[in-house]
Amino acid sequence: MTDGGYACWFCDRPIERTDPGAVLVHVRGFWAWYDGSNADDDPAQDVYAHSACAKNRLK
Ligand SMILES: [Zn+2]
Repeated sequence: MTDGGYACWFCDRPIERTDPGAVLVHVRGFWAWYDGSNADDDPAQDVYAHSACAKNRLK
C-alpha cells in the first residue's frame, strides 16, 4: 500500500478521487455471519477496488 492510501484489491494501484465509482467491499467469514456471531477471530477485512476493476472482475 502506498502513501497511506488505499490500493485496489485487483490491480494493487492506488485509488484516486478521480474514480468516483470506486467501491469498498467488507469481507468477513461467511459462517460467522450465518451464525450471527461477532467473534473476535472472524477474519473480517475491508478491501477496495476501482470502479472499472470491480466491474470487470466481479462478474
Ligand atoms: Zn484497480
